[in-house]
Amino acid sequence: MIIDLSGKTALVTGASRGIGEAIALRLASTGAHVLCAARSKDRVDELAQKIVDAGGQASGVELDITAPDVRTRVADILKERSIDILVNNAGITADDLFVRMKPDAWIDVLRTNLDSAFNITQEVVKKMIRARWGRVINISSVVGLMGNPGQVNYASSKAALIGFTKSLALEIGSRNVTVNAVAPGFIQTAMTDQLTQEQRTALEERIALKRLGTPDDIAYAVVFLASEQGGYMTGTVLNVSGGLYT
Ligand code: NAP
Repeated sequence: MIIDLSGKTALVTGASRGIGEAIALRLASTGAHVLCAARSKDRVDELAQKIVDAGGQASGVELDITAPDVRTRVADILKERSIDILVNNAGITADDLFVRMKPDAWIDVLRTNLDSAFNITQEVVKKMIRARWGRVINISSVVGLMGNPGQVNYASSKAALIGFTKSLALEIGSRNVTVNAVAPGFIQTAMTDQLTQEQRTALEERIALKRLGTPDDIAYAVVFLASEQGGYMTGTVLNVSGGLYT
């Protein structure tokens, strides 16, 4: 099976490192023009250059998904080129036990992980609907399905993203725009680097495949959902957790 996304443009949020960077690289390797977005302009410019040096097409985009003007920023991007594939990947954690959780930790996580998907997707899908082709892929988490102590805020945001995915899929499926979520398990990135060796070993024990995932494990799932071949899937949640949650 050859996945060819040449002629398509993908916007990947949170592309400056980790899972988003891997998604950007893999989408670019299928021929898509990738808009690599994050707050760290240097990092996304570097990534875009790496893609171009390898013969692909990409641009770095400075984008804070929580900025009050995020919609205008996305609308400006859309004036330059249509976005065929939107990957809402950027996300944060601010873990604490529920009884101690500060309102800011709740608000920041919900604003980054959920409100941003509302703002950006609403801008982008209008053109997808007109074009009668589009892919929206939301990076959720298995903790949105199974819960996790210390992550009431994060798990709520990721569970809500699944409700968002399923509902929007039903609304716009007739326009040939698919909306899916990927629910990663524990993936080796800066987000999980904070774990101690002890926590990591205990975690690996709970995973059927006995290892943390790699950013590429997630990127391949995203590429499939973005492809023509994945076009009969919508409203689904792809669980890519190595059997942490089944
Ligand atoms: P990461 O290494 O911490 O990277 C997070 C990315 O999000 C960075 O590129 C960061 O870029 C961007 N970001 C954060 N806040 C932003 C903002 N306000 N505006 C724009 N960009 C922002 O995280 P990751 O592990 O790759 O996770 C990526 C996604 O997968 C997240 O949604 C996460 O919840 C989800 N996930 C991760 C795991 C895991 O185990 N790692 C598991 C399940 C789900 P800048 O700082 O440059 O802006």
